[in-house]
Amino acid sequence: MRLAGYVPRELGHPSHRAPAKLPQRAQGKEVTYYPDLSPYRYTVADQPMLNVGWLEPGAYFPRGPVPAQLVDALLKLGTRPRNKLRGFHFCEFCSRYRGTGEIHVVGASGIRYAAPMLIIHYIFAHRYRPPKEFVEAVLSPVCAVA
Ligand SMILES: [Zn+2]
Repeated sequence: MRLAGYVPRELGHPSHRAPAKLPQRAQGKEVTYYPDLSPYRYTVADQPMLNVGWLEPGAYFPRGPVPAQLVDALLKLGTRPRNKLRGFHFCEFCSRYRGTGEIHVVGASGIRYAAPMLIIHYIFAHRYRPPKEFVEAVLSPVCAVA
């Protein structure tokens, strides 16, 4: 007897296959890794900005001590996050924390930086050490980009 539409399991009909494990990027998940100080391209920014703190497991990032005031300064800048439209970013290192929006800041050099809100968690929980020029910008910002 022949069943219409029947495909033997061994031929690999999709209904018999376990869901394929695709890399995260192939699942339509947001790509949120950018090397520190690379040009910001996530959204159309009015002015050029540099990426800081867009980390991803498997990609190198510097770790180490940061100035004691850095986290407080970032929390202050982060009270009005930018680009909240981008949705939540989960920490891919521990999955225990999610953040939304970005922190934008301009340093004395006039350079603008864009960091995910998760940067605070990365520093606090994963010992991420952002580039010195970003740390200086956060500690004495010319302005938090409004
Ligand atoms: Zn984490």
